[in-house]
Amino acid sequence: MGKAESFEFQDMGKYSSDSEMSNGSKKGGCFVSTAIGFVLTLLAACLAVGVGLIVHFASPGDLECKCTYPGLTSGNGGTGAIVGGKATTITPGSALIDQCKGIVNDGNTEICSVCPNVQITSLKPTSSSPAQATTTTSSPTSSRDVRLPRNIKPDLYTVELQPNMYEGPAKDFTFNGTVKIKMICVISTPEVVLHINKLNITGSITLSAVDDSSFAYVSHSFDSVRQFIIIRGNKDLIAGHNYTIEMSFIGPLKDDLHGLYLSSYKRGNKTVYIATTQFQATDLRKTFPCFDEPAIKAKFDITLVRKSHMTALSNMPKIASVQRGDDWVADTFQTTPPVSTYLLAFIISDFNYTSAVTTNNVTYRAWARPEAVEQTRYALSVGVEVLTYFEDYFNISFPLPKQDMIAIPDFAAGAMENWGLITYRETAMLYDPKESSEGNKERVAVVVSHELAHQWFGNLVTPSWWDDLWLNEGFASFVEYMGVDHVHKDWKMFEQFVVEDLQDVFNFDGLVTSHPVYVPVTHPDEINEIFDRISYGKGASIIRMMRFFLGEGTFKRGLTRYLNGRKYDAAFHDDLWFALGNQSKDEGKDINVKAIMDTWTLQMNFPVVMLKRDHNNIVVTQKRYLRDYGAKDPGKYVSKFNYAWEIPFTFTSQSKANFNQTDQDVSWMHKNNISLLLPSISPNDWIIGNVMQYGYYRVNYEESNWNKLVQQLDDNHEKIHAINRAQIVNDAWNLAKSGDLDMRIALKTVNYLAKEREYIVWEAALGELGYVDSMLERTSLYGSFANFMRDTVEAPFNETNLADSSLPHLQSYVRSLISAQACEYGIQKCIDQSKELFKNWMSSPDNNTINPSVRSTVYCTAIRNGGVEEWDFAYQMYKISNLASEKSRLMSSLACSRETWILSRYLQYALTPEEIRKQDATNVIVHISRNPVGRSLAWDFVRANWNKLLKDFGEVLYKFARLLAGTTSSFNHPFDLMQLEEFLKAHPDMGSGTRAFQQAIEKTKSNIKWMESNFNVVEEWLKSRGY
Ligand SMILES: [Zn+2]
Repeated sequence: MGKAESFEFQDMGKYSSDSEMSNGSKKGGCFVSTAIGFVLTLLAACLAVGVGLIVHFASPGDLECKCTYPGLTSGNGGTGAIVGGKATTITPGSALIDQCKGIVNDGNTEICSVCPNVQITSLKPTSSSPAQATTTTSSPTSSRDVRLPRNIKPDLYTVELQPNMYEGPAKDFTFNGTVKIKMICVISTPEVVLHINKLNITGSITLSAVDDSSFAYVSHSFDSVRQFIIIRGNKDLIAGHNYTIEMSFIGPLKDDLHGLYLSSYKRGNKTVYIATTQFQATDLRKTFPCFDEPAIKAKFDITLVRKSHMTALSNMPKIASVQRGDDWVADTFQTTPPVSTYLLAFIISDFNYTSAVTTNNVTYRAWARPEAVEQTRYALSVGVEVLTYFEDYFNISFPLPKQDMIAIPDFAAGAMENWGLITYRETAMLYDPKESSEGNKERVAVVVSHELAHQWFGNLVTPSWWDDLWLNEGFASFVEYMGVDHVHKDWKMFEQFVVEDLQDVFNFDGLVTSHPVYVPVTHPDEINEIFDRISYGKGASIIRMMRFFLGEGTFKRGLTRYLNGRKYDAAFHDDLWFALGNQSKDEGKDINVKAIMDTWTLQMNFPVVMLKRDHNNIVVTQKRYLRDYGAKDPGKYVSKFNYAWEIPFTFTSQSKANFNQTDQDVSWMHKNNISLLLPSISPNDWIIGNVMQYGYYRVNYEESNWNKLVQQLDDNHEKIHAINRAQIVNDAWNLAKSGDLDMRIALKTVNYLAKEREYIVWEAALGELGYVDSMLERTSLYGSFANFMRDTVEAPFNETNLADSSLPHLQSYVRSLISAQACEYGIQKCIDQSKELFKNWMSSPDNNTINPSVRSTVYCTAIRNGGVEEWDFAYQMYKISNLASEKSRLMSSLACSRETWILSRYLQYALTPEEIRKQDATNVIVHISRNPVGRSLAWDFVRANWNKLLKDFGEVLYKFARLLAGTTSSFNHPFDLMQLEEFLKAHPDMGSGTRAFQQAIEKTKSNIKWMESNFNVVEEWLKSRGY
């Protein structure tokens, strides 16, 4: 999925042959039991169909897991190599066996999530064989057994869906349909278990055997907790035989943003309805009964039934249209390749499109409301270019004949990578050169690139289970930069990465309530929770680090190896490590990628590396960084590496400054300390560790070195690369927050800021200064701080002009940042210009001449310094704007008012769908909470409307966590903490908000601590600078 909206600037081969799918080598199993005195029995019994790996760890225990691991080949030197396809032999040294042993040895109760393709079977005394394993679907549900048994494998679904949304009130809309599933039985079983949720079965269920006419349906039952339907025949289904199941059903068509759902938009006073889908992670089962797990791929024949004035779209091209009478038309689509259930998409709309054909002959169409179709052209051009670029980069053709992108008026995430039919929220796809800012433009390019990256990472090769979600999202979040960089070299995307992703996720990953990149998850609530910054931002950051230490060429060839090895199939993260490790071995580098990357993915947080001089050496040590070392670790995750990492360390120094380093410059710092010789480096030189911040770690120095760096910034900051300038600021401030560094030094790193002109450094610095602002905003010190900020931005502000529309991309970014500060901290010229520009617009509403890149500042300033007249005008413009990104700017600016009653009214609007679209409601509340006047209003509002918010947004990916984090981010008083704790006590059942609430408590505690330790220091520093 694409990143969600509230990140405002940037916020989610050939068709495989059937013979590959039916190849027996895909079947296999590994049975693991928890053990007292672990006994390994390699049964060497390839009892399942075909040849593969079957390992049985049998011992008395209370839980048994079965893992199937398709296509495992013999190990390479005992380390294990995993390649899809024609595997025939297994050696005991293979990775999976080692892994299974390790799991059991550790007594790890999470075993079922660690093994790929896991199935939980009944409690067994010892030594059961796979053919005898029976699934206990009716046993009491533990948190671990929500997974489907693997005894049935679907091959081809034939599905028909008909939304009924043309007559009567929207609350009565429904959809009905039929599904027929051709399946093969892999392990004999008395029943078929598949997913269903919120559907009513209509008519009878048919269960038949292809080669046994006496086989028939007998009964079915539901397990509503696990969202299962269990269907039984008059005899067992036998391994190796083919079966078919058929059902018809009906379900509600609601505007709930999940499954097959209702969206709408206004044309004049008329509401136009469309039906669209969002299935990730577990919502296809709301649309038709299916085997709804990512590793259970199958082919799909889809038919969508629509009224004649509408258009139907799905993953594949349409191949036939049949009139059904009464104005109904049934469109049938080409059979899909094997695809995971969550990647399907069905849309019925009256949209129009623009189109192009890529150089490799893929038809590319961009769809939107007819009124907005012209705004699709930029996304289309980026899409066409990036799709071809990725085909070249991965060296694998896009496997589908067409690619559609479509802008949906109501959408929960930023975008969704459905194979061949990518859905976007409008702000992530629509762009109008006259009305959209440079930031809007970049966001469109980034999201388009992100979703296209998924067509390979996620769609062609899919994580076996949601615990490896990061394989999807981390990759797409890194590769998106490559795609945009290809189209817009001058945007310096790889520099932007450091502030947008790496430093951003450090904030989250420095908390004890963080989580490892790889997380065992089962329940849908848990799955939804991990669509967070760790999976996206940390995933991307450690992949960037890996690209650096492997070298670009090895990385690229290793990725192609991984994708080709697992295409049309599922993968476990070890598959990636082995593909990259074996590639490096083939190229003579022999880097043990798994051993390195396990330390970054299986434990949470990250290290801070300390550099100390010792004569001509630097001694380099590492420790776990925590923003608050006193915070109590909830103990949910235990590090098996004792919070030590395999670190690709790099450094440079003053007299031999080199910011252009490669994998050849890496000194490996294993999970221990290292000592590096620094020949002929003068003791007067500064040293910088983690050159270009390729590594996912912070760096700390002795005070003398920090002072030399500060001196360098003051004297000639350009001697240090902009990325490392941003790093120095970010590390220093965050080391001060954690108590690893004296705050006085951190403050000195921004002394030179008035001379800085690079976007990423301003972004890093304003992130920290913005934090100080939020801590001080209710204190007596705020006036002095505002004066300091005003003086710092004055010089760069005076070089810019709010009306200049010719600035290049990154300069425009700098102006946006600087002018926002200038107006906020009261530079009169900025306020006057903004008011003037806004007044001109008010006097001719149809002709907005304000440069899109400064509109946010101009709107906010005019509303902050204006009254109800300005607010009502902006709200009116918000209501009638046809461009989503302009709407979004107005929406956030409306929160800038200083009038309490206006803000209260705006909060009420947020929960009134006729005023504010449901998808934007939480954003409005968060925007208001960022206004010092609105902060307590917003928090009171959240508490007063808790049940409604939880009901409306608790299940929506991202939103609820954002709402909580947003409204509580500047809590810094013991009274705030007390409120949070009392609220938690009163609402123990928070669903997907649990983690976010714990984080809010932790954040508040650390804010309180910051105030205790730093308030006086900041006061002293301001005084010393004359404020
Ligand atoms: Zn994504």
